[in-house]
Amino acid sequence: MSKYTTNGETPKKYECTKRKCKWQGTDNAKSQRKMDGFYQLLTCPNCGNDEFYGLREGLRFTHIETGNTGEFIKTYRPTGKPLTMQIRLDDGSIYFAPKVEFKQCRS
Ligand SMILES: [Zn+2]
Repeated sequence: MSKYTTNGETPKKYECTKRKCKWQGTDNAKSQRKMDGFYQLLTCPNCGNDEFYGLREGLRFTHIETGNTGEFIKTYRPTGKPLTMQIRLDDGSIYFAPKVEFKQCRS
């Protein structure tokens, strides 16, 4: 199965189409370039390109201490606790730990 989305699928993140760049991230991480009063173009924060491939897989993070690696689900702040990140491991189970203990995977 291709890692890229096809028509009708909603990408979980994007990859810059420039082969030398290959930046990956979500819409939130893209730069915004104002085209006119109404329209904003989302561009690659790395190279400024405005074309992206859609990727099926979301951002992946590794819990440094345990080596648990999975797909990002969300961050949240439990009462009185540090910011916590939830990931889905490859076996489908949910794993969470303080966000600072994770590092993002390079794919
Ligand atoms: Zn780029």
